[in-house]
Formats: sequence, C-alpha cells, structure tokens
Amino acid sequence: MSNLLKVPGVGKHSQEDFKNLNVYSLEDALFLLPRAYDDRREEKRIRMASVEDPSILCRVTVATHTTFSSKRGPVFKATVVDDDNTHLDLLCFNRDYLKRVLHIGTSWYIHATVQKNKYVYQSAAFEIMAKKEELGIGSILPIYPLSGSLTQKLVSRVVNFALDSLLPLEEVIPLDVLERNGLFTRNEAILNIHRPKSSKLYELSRLSLAFEELFLLELSLLREKGATVDQGYSVTNLEKALIRKLPFKLTKDQEISLNAIRRDLDSPTPMHRLLQGDVGAGKTLVAWLSALHEIGKGNQVAFMAPTELLARQHAEGAASLLSSLGVRISFITGDVKGSARRLSLKALERGEIDLAIGTHALFSEDVRFKRLKLAIIDEQHRFGVEQREALRKKGENVNILSMTATPIPRTLSLTLHADLDVSTIHSMPLGRRPIITHLVSEEKRDEMYSVISVEFNRGHQAYFVYPRIDNEGESDLRDVYTMFDTLKKKYPGVPSALIHSKLPEEEKMKILSDFRDKKLYYLVATSVVEVGLDIKDATVMVIEHADRFGLAALHQLRGRVGRSSLQSYAFLVFDKNNLTEDAKERLSVMRETNDGFLIAERDLLIRGPGELTGNKQSGFLRMKFASLTKDLELIERAREEAKTLLENDIGLLKANHSSLRRALNDGTYLFLKD
Ligand code: ADP
Ligand code: MG
Repeated sequence: MSNLLKVPGVGKHSQEDFKNLNVYSLEDALFLLPRAYDDRREEKRIRMASVEDPSILCRVTVATHTTFSSKRGPVFKATVVDDDNTHLDLLCFNRDYLKRVLHIGTSWYIHATVQKNKYVYQSAAFEIMAKKEELGIGSILPIYPLSGSLTQKLVSRVVNFALDSLLPLEEVIPLDVLERNGLFTRNEAILNIHRPKSSKLYELSRLSLAFEELFLLELSLLREKGATVDQGYSVTNLEKALIRKLPFKLTKDQEISLNAIRRDLDSPTPMHRLLQGDVGAGKTLVAWLSALHEIGKGNQVAFMAPTELLARQHAEGAASLLSSLGVRISFITGDVKGSARRLSLKALERGEIDLAIGTHALFSEDVRFKRLKLAIIDEQHRFGVEQREALRKKGENVNILSMTATPIPRTLSLTLHADLDVSTIHSMPLGRRPIITHLVSEEKRDEMYSVISVEFNRGHQAYFVYPRIDNEGESDLRDVYTMFDTLKKKYPGVPSALIHSKLPEEEKMKILSDFRDKKLYYLVATSVVEVGLDIKDATVMVIEHADRFGLAALHQLRGRVGRSSLQSYAFLVFDKNNLTEDAKERLSVMRETNDGFLIAERDLLIRGPGELTGNKQSGFLRMKFASLTKDLELIERAREEAKTLLENDIGLLKANHSSLRRALNDGTYLFLKD
C-alpha cells in the first residue's frame, strides 16, 4: 500500500481527514467515488443563467473596476463582459489578490453562480482563471466528498497522483465475464470514474466497479458454502401418510420448498436452509413434513419457537397432526419442570422421543439427543446465531431449517445470506382473501368502532393492540389497561380479556385458549400477539399509534388476521399531527400492499440496509459502489456468473483465474476484510 504522505500538500492532519473518507492509502484513493460531477464541457454565457440553473462558464474581459464600502469594510468590484457583451459584477469579498490581477482589458475564464438583480447580473461565488484547462473547461469534473479541512483541490490532487502512479492495476475479473455483461475492466472503470468523457461512461464505470465488488463477494460466499451435488430425494411413508390425511392439497410453493428440503436432507452436507413465506403461507406444515422425513429414517428432530406460547401452539398442532402417525412428541420449555422434565429428557436421550418441541430451553445443557438430525427454528430472526449453533452441536451433521415470516429482501438474501439456501412460499393457500387495510385518523375512530361491532355480530373476533401496558410514566400514548375499560363500555356484554408480556405464562395460555374456543371475542393487547398466533375467526386487527411501529412489526401484527377464507380488516390508527415523513411512508406502504416481500423491500429503502442487517454483516456496508437498494439486477448477474465460474473451476486453478484466487485468498481486496 502506498502512503498518502507521498503526495505534495498532504500532511499528518489531512491524512487523518482522508481516513474519514475511508482513504487510508493511495490505492484507496483510486476507489474514492465522486459524490457528483460538474459538467464543464459546454460554454454557457451569462445571459443563459436562470433561477433553476444559475451557473455560467465562459470567457470574459474586465471592463471596469471599483472599490466601494460596505458594512464589512471595503469591497473590490470588477465588472466583466462576455462575448455577448453581457455585463456581470463580480463581488470580491476577502479576495484582495484579485484586485492585483483583474486589470481592465485582461481576459479570463470564469465559472460562477450568478444572480440577476433587476437588470444587473452579480456573483460573489466564482472561480476565475487565466487558462481554460485550469477551470476544467471541456471536461467533466468529479466532485469528491470532503471531510475536515480537505478541499476539492487537495482531494483531486491525491486522486490524480494515484491514477498517474498506480495504474494500470492487475485485472481481477476474467475478461469473458466482463464482456458478457458489457462492463469495463477495472482500469477503464477507475479512469472513467475520475476522468469521465461522458456521463454515460461514469455510470457504466460505477456499475462495473459495483459488479466487481459483488462478484468477489458472491464468489467468496459460494466458495465457503462448498459445491453442491445435485441428486434425487426420497419420500418416507410417514410423509405420505400425513399428506393423505390433509383435507387440502399442498400449494405449488409448499411442494417446491419441501422437495428442496428433502434433497438437502438426503445429501451428505448438512443443510442450512431458510424457509420464508408470509404469515399464514403454510410454512409450519412444510416443517412437519420435513420432520417426518427425518423421523421416517429413524432420526430425531428438534423444533424451536421463540416464546412459550408459540411453542405450545405448535406442540398442540403437532400432536393433533402427527401423534396418530405414531410420532412420539415431547414438549420442553422452561416451564416444564420436575419429574415431567426428567422423564422427557431421559426418553429423548434414549431415542424414545422423535420430535422435541420447545423454546430456547432446548439448548440447555441437560437436553441430550440420541441422534438429532434436524433442527427447525421458527421465527428465526428472534434467535441469535450462537443459539442456532448450540442446537446444531447437539448432534452430528445436524441439518438446520430456519423459518421466517419477515422476508429478507432479495438483494440481502443474495449477498449477506448467500451462504444460506432460501426457499420461498409466495402464494397463499387457496381461498384466502387479501386483508383490507384502513388508515384511521382520530376523527374516524367512531366509524371504526361501529364497523367492528358488525364483525362481532357476525361471530368474528378482534385484536386491539397498543404500544403500552399501562398509563404510568410520562406519555400520552394509549395503553392496554385504560383502553380495556374504554372498550368494555363500547362493547357491553362482549366477552374480552387483556393480555401483555407481564402476565404469568399460565394466564396468557388460558386467555389464548379461551380466545381460540371463542369464549372471548376480543383481546386488548401489546404486541405480544405479534408472532405466530393462528386463529381462524379473528378478522379484525386494530393497531393504535400505528405510526410508531416499524414496517416489519406492522406486517406481522396484521398477519394475525386473514387466516381463513373470511374477509379480514386491519385498522391502523394514527395521529395526523405528529406524523414523520417515514411514518407516513410506512403507513401508505401498509395500505397499498399485503405482500410481505414488497414490504421488506420498501423497509429496506426507508431504513437503509444498516439497521436491517445489524452490525454483524457490516462488511457488506463497506461496499463502495454497489447499492443494496438499487442494484438487484446486478447482484443477480454477479451471483450467476460466480456460480458458473465455480462450476467450471471450483478451486480457481485455471491460469486466467489466478489473480482472482489471490484477491480472494489475501482477503485484502477492497471490502473483503478489515
Ligand atoms: P405460517 O407458519 O406460514 O404462518 P401456517 O403453517 O400456520 O402458516 O398455516 C396457516 C394455516 O393454513 C394453517 O391453519 C394451515 O393448516 C393452513 N394451511 C397450510 N397449508 C395449506 C394448504 N396448502 N391449503 C390450505 N390451507 C393450508
Ligand atoms: Mg408460523
């Protein structure tokens, strides 16, 4: 790496400022992306300046000058004329040296931002040079990001020094790949980023460098994952028996996902697959069938849910579907204690249990399996990587199936999660109606309450969700306890309950099972109802202060309804006086679409990738050229190319892949390692 201090004018101080731009060496300077370009190819005379575009660029001659006094002291004013004979007054604040050079009759080149006051053009912001080239006339000037005391001039000097002393760099991406995709080589791209001949060229240059970045990222991730051997799969009798029992047919996407899982499970490399699908898309059933695939081969399966409540719901579901097939199920959570727990654990260790369903209690040290082959993780985003690993260690070559209803935008799953195989259930089971979403401002509140009472009359159920449990502390947000009283008065005689995270687990279970049995018609809740609840007659979801919730949470909450063929409604109540721009955007996204993938993409756009990914994958955020929100197509192409290349040369041993191999192995390349 070459030291920045080599460049005349760069001292210790500016060296520090350059670090803020991620420029630690001259090599880095090559990859400093200009934040904009100033097109100085065409001359623009003074009278062409407008309010929209007040800049001019032309040759002028000094006509007169004078010094007048102002509040800030004496000011030198030079009046210049261009070849159209238009006059322009230049106000030279704090630029006394101009007085010494702007002699009457001398010619100059000027780039200025001008204002027209009545009939007079004026400028206080201008560059004036004796030679065309000094102003960059005839070229497109890059404008670099700055930091601290850095000036455009110094940054340009550093970049130009780097270009002149370091190019050409060794090419990394095989030429045929670049040609196929119509991209520049890195040397062409770097030159065109800093010294572009046209605006088309610098955009293509950015794409080329972005491709290079993505291609290397995909290659490294795919290489880590290892080669996949495509082979067939088996279907166990247990799976066939369950499928025969179902009152419906699997959807196409369920089948495709299931087959991919079967293939993974039958292959010798452990699976790590993410099954994503919108709430209610039918992931759980795919999970049970996957479990049967291993159980049918005589292996054990663990199924882990993020909360006691969900684990229990799943255990009940599994018992009713699978027990009759002879599957031996046990339920392990923190709440299962004493001799019941001891017995389960012993049976598990002896291999007398086929399927263990539970919470994070499943990772406890005393939980041992005889031959755990598959761990299924529901709502995987609620668990950490370490927890997944802890579960994996409870057997040999344990396959992992993670499930999520918070879909990962494709750009992310293709990059950050390229080491993960992803199956997606896009389509909903037949007969589901899209949820109708209303945005409700305060004035419309009563209207909403009456619509809901019609739903109660039809025998349908509702959730009311608030951001707070009680009205303690300083806040004017509505809370569960207060609203529980209010709603009781609104809907006299309609049985209801309140539920939030601070209630004892037993009580929560009781309330939910009463709700399921329709002893209760509505629940007044915090976002505890967010995850996984599956109650078919619930058709109304009210979310108060909806503007305070993130898109993912709103979508999850809304997904509690619309779980059968009944028409469901979501009411997002908001305060229109305190609406931020982002909140407005989130609400309108919710109104426009029920599609979780679209919502995830929009979330990415609103929040930016940083928050979505957390800092773990921050390596990705150091990408200089690729944009997670804009470059989906490029990411897909980079991945395809990386795949093809590895298929033909998994070890990168061919002669024309040697610099690629070095770039990946050194890991010093661009963004790959710190
Ligand atoms: P998810 O876990 O994806 O949120 P679930 O597995 O809970 O969704 O499924 C929601 C409901 O849809 C369940 O009651 C399930 O029995 C039902 N279901 C699943 N697959 C189908 C299908 N192919 N056709 C009809 N209903 C289905
Ligand atoms: Mg689920």
